Amino acid sequence: MADCVFCAIAAGELPADIVHSDDRVVAFRDLNPQAPLHVLVIPRLHRANAAELAATDPALVGDMVTAAHAVATGDGRAESGYRLIFNTGADAGQTVFHAHLHLLAGGRVGLTL
Ligand code: AMP
Ligand code: ZN
Repeated sequence: MADCVFCAIAAGELPADIVHSDDRVVAFRDLNPQAPLHVLVIPRLHRANAAELAATDPALVGDMVTAAHAVATGDGRAESGYRLIFNTGADAGQTVFHAHLHLLAGGRVGLTL
């Protein structure tokens, strides 16, 4: 989609610190990390949020979770634990309207919920 920063990263048109890439999803480090490991997993398919993605291709949401687990495993964080977050809508703090899954790990990340 034109003017979408995450589509540009997926297309290789905008630099990012990519930690996983396949034909369905791309994962890269968040520019403003909130934890020692903070990675965003995105679908190559543009949809505004996780619910719209699930409505189009539910398996793709599963692919994102699988990719997040692979990144956590590669970083040695799978055993100690990690957090996955989909922000949806402005009140949840969503600022980029291309679906993305936050992977957070390291320390006791955000244990307020
Ligand atoms: P959200 O608030 O859930 O929409 O999260 C958007 C996230 O994208 C924020 O944590 C930003 O720091 C991150 N972000 C925005 N632009 C980029 C970029 N070009 N590369 C990496 N992370 C980004
Ligand atoms: Zn997009």
